[in-house]
Amino acid sequence: MNRFIAKIGWGVFALHAAVASAETSKSQQITRAGDQASIAGPADYFSGQARIDPVWPADDHINASGGLVTFEPGARSAWHTHPAGQRLVVISGVGRTQEWGKSIQEIRPGDVVWCPPGVKHWHGASPTTAMTHLAVTGTVDGKNVNWMEKVTDEQYDAR
Ligand code: MN
Repeated sequence: MNRFIAKIGWGVFALHAAVASAETSKSQQITRAGDQASIAGPADYFSGQARIDPVWPADDHINASGGLVTFEPGARSAWHTHPAGQRLVVISGVGRTQEWGKSIQEIRPGDVVWCPPGVKHWHGASPTTAMTHLAVTGTVDGKNVNWMEKVTDEQYDAR
């Protein structure tokens, strides 16, 4: 078990996990379920309760991280941008997402959202139902997100 820093789309977190030496090994690597601890979404960047389950870090082979993010009802990210963009795959529940200046979109399991580089947006649960999405987030110079202000209740409730 090595200690490393995983960039998973929501900031930088120290984790304990079995790390694949992707640079040198030509063998398959299996990161076992349970090897990567869940992380509470930091209060500076989330409203309500969000949980992040790291899936894979960006590495030399694929310059994008994967993370499962679960939002309790009413929880959402702060406004933010991604320097290399982000794809969201809704896994379960009912969620919401919004681009700055546009209307809120309801998102459901199987929906795939592309967030282009530099476009300000947020994503989260619906008011009454939790939502889990896989976030695949590209990295530029080791950075994958620029955090901004929180989403107000008025913004979250606007339909
Ligand atoms: Mn995003």
